[in-house]
Amino acid sequence: MGKGQKVKFDLHMHSTSSDGELDPAALMRYAHDECGVEMAALTDHDTLGGLEAASEEAARLGMRFVNGIEISSLWADRCIHIVGLRVDPDNEKLARLAGGISAQRSARAVKIAERLEHLGFPNLYGKALKYARNPAIISRMHFAQAMTVEGYVEHLQQAFDRYLGDGMPAFIPTRWPPLAESVAAIRDAGGIAVLAHPGRYRLNEQWQFDGLMTDFQNAGGRAIEVVSGSQSSQYTEICLAAAQRFGFYASSGSDFHSRSGKRPLPGTQGELPGGVKTILELLQSLA
Ligand code: AMP
Ligand code: MN
Ligand code: MN
Ligand code: MN
Repeated sequence: MGKGQKVKFDLHMHSTSSDGELDPAALMRYAHDECGVEMAALTDHDTLGGLEAASEEAARLGMRFVNGIEISSLWADRCIHIVGLRVDPDNEKLARLAGGISAQRSARAVKIAERLEHLGFPNLYGKALKYARNPAIISRMHFAQAMTVEGYVEHLQQAFDRYLGDGMPAFIPTRWPPLAESVAAIRDAGGIAVLAHPGRYRLNEQWQFDGLMTDFQNAGGRAIEVVSGSQSSQYTEICLAAAQRFGFYASSGSDFHSRSGKRPLPGTQGELPGGVKTILELLQSLA
């Protein structure tokens, strides 16, 4: 890599180990061969299960790989996503945390199916489970897929907007681990805790936004996603300012799930702005 040349990287992507379309190895091939990604992290929801296959394939491709996870966490009664980067995939504390979340997901899925049944959509538990290629991680996404295929909604987003989204009739509040616990587990696994897509939490008041940043920092969080394929680009500036104010490293990822989705393809989420220390510097210093 010559001086001044930018590395195309993506530190937030999903595979079939959670709610993504491509299996871990296929995702690495797609990111590298089709999208030109030179450094990738797999960050599946609440599981470390895809990391071995992804890292082996990345090595075969000659692509730099970062072991990751995206942990569903609770802060002020909201679900907040904490990405862990450079985690040890064999760490017991992190595996235990993930295992607990997986059990919560299974129990939640039964309740979601009950709600949907009351709403006139029967037998969706088994159908959703079919879409969950890793049965340990059953997601609202899998219900959305089943509802779309059954013709109950026109597209995935409509399933969230009408039924599954936060506060909608089939939404089941879930006891995710508290933010501080997720950050602690990531750190125990030797990883860097990154606050995922801060623009997605509807923190409309400045004190709420700053409150999350402060609590995340006090828990040991080191970085925030300044550029994310799953938050509107207007948040880049807001997150840049927050990273500068709190001294966070700036991270960037597409939050890629599928080739047909509306989100950017791997590595195409846009460049990090200048004027802030980047997660690449931190990863390099730890290498
Ligand atoms: P879960 O983690 O099971 O609560 O499922 C949430 C997942 O559904 C997210 O990770 C996204 O991949 C997907 N999703 C798509 N649209 C939405 C939406 N409007 N609200 C929440 N999740 C969504
Ligand atoms: Mn997802
Ligand atoms: Mn997320
Ligand atoms: Mn994600």
